[in-house]
Amino acid sequence: MSAVTTVEFLDHWNEETERYETVHLPAKYEVCPDCKGEGKSSAYLGAFTRDELDEMGDEFIDDYRAGNFDRPCERCAGNRVIAVVDEELCDPALLQEYKKMKDDEAESRMAEAAERAYFSRIG
Ligand SMILES: [Zn+2]
Repeated sequence: MSAVTTVEFLDHWNEETERYETVHLPAKYEVCPDCKGEGKSSAYLGAFTRDELDEMGDEFIDDYRAGNFDRPCERCAGNRVIAVVDEELCDPALLQEYKKMKDDEAESRMAEAAERAYFSRIG
């Protein structure tokens, strides 16, 4: 038996207690899209063109191919999988709320980034 996987959902408004609370949504594991299940990745190096690799030399290429520059994946912390909400098992109302929260998060991140870009231009 393994523990049930859940994804935390913060600040759900509980009508009965009239308080914000944390609920846990049923989740499942999916192969991490960042490292594609490798648990580590050299993506932080960026992609090299053929010419760049030729310039680096054979030793570098061997190391690179062997994964010697790989770092633990940040997204899954080397676990190769990430927990995502299992939409089929999830209460539809909560799922909707969760998605809205995610949208809001993405929106405020975008707004913050735009703000930073604006102030760095005039600053
Ligand atoms: Zn990963």
